[in-house]
Amino acid sequence: MKRRTYLSGAVTAVGLPVSAVGSGLAPAIGVNDRENETQPASMLLEGTDYETELYVIEGDSTGPTGIVVGGVHGDEKSGYRAAETVSSWQFDAGRVVVVPRVNQPAIDANARHGVGGDLNRKFPPGEEPTTKLARTIWNDVVLQYEPDFLLDLHRSKGIYEFHPDFVGQAIYPTSVEPAPSNATETIDMLNEDHVPWSMPFHEFKTGNTLYGTSPMLVHKAGDDLGIPAYIVETARFLTDLDTRTEWTAVAARSLLSLHDIERVTEGDR
Ligand SMILES: [Zn+2]
Repeated sequence: MKRRTYLSGAVTAVGLPVSAVGSGLAPAIGVNDRENETQPASMLLEGTDYETELYVIEGDSTGPTGIVVGGVHGDEKSGYRAAETVSSWQFDAGRVVVVPRVNQPAIDANARHGVGGDLNRKFPPGEEPTTKLARTIWNDVVLQYEPDFLLDLHRSKGIYEFHPDFVGQAIYPTSVEPAPSNATETIDMLNEDHVPWSMPFHEFKTGNTLYGTSPMLVHKAGDDLGIPAYIVETARFLTDLDTRTEWTAVAARSLLSLHDIERVTEGDR
C-alpha cells in the first residue's frame, strides 16, 4: 500500500475562472484546460450561514459521476476531513463532485445537529426535502450533477453490538447493485490491509441494506434515483482522528475505484 498524504484546508484555484460562483449553477468546465490542475471550489448558499464549498473534479477521460459528501453531522470530524481529502484528489476518469462540509453551522458548533435538527432526517424518499439546506443539497448538488453513485461519510461513537446504541465501523449500501457487493469488497480490504489484528472489535461490517425506508440522504438517493449509494461509518471508540480519517478516505477511494474512477497522483502520470 502506498502512503497517502492528506492536505488540510481548502485547495486554491489555479488561474481558472470560477464563472458560476454564486449563480447557483454548476461551474463552467473546460475539461482540456484543467488536466493536472487543482480544481477550484464554487460556493453553495453563498453569503448565508450555510455557505460551503463544492468541488467538481473532472477525470482525464469520460466516465461515471460520483458525489461525495461529509459533515452532514457537524461533530463527525473524520467524515468531513476525509471528504476534504477526496476534494484534493485527481482521477483518471469520470467526474467527482465533493461537498466536504455539508452542514457548516453544525460543524461550526461541533454538534451533530445544526439549524432545525438532524439534517440526515430531512430527506424523505419520494418527497421534497424538508429544510432549505436539505433542498439545496438535493436539488443543486444531487439532481444538478445526476450522479451514478453517492457516498456519505459519517462517524459513529461506538462499536456495533458492543455498544448497543451505535452503528460501529460499517458501510451501509443501498439495495441497488453493485452497492452491496462493493460495500463488502471495500470492507474486506479495510479489514485485511488497515484494521490492526489487535483490534478485532474494529473490523468493519456490512451494514444493513438501505431500501428507502428512512428520511436519510442515502436512502433517498437509492430510492428516488435508483443508484448505488453508501453511508460510511468509522468508530471513535479507541481510535484517533487521523486513523478514522484515513480509514474513511481509504473506503471512499475503494468505492470510487469500484465505480471505475481511479485516483491518480502526479507519479502515476
Ligand atoms: Zn453521522
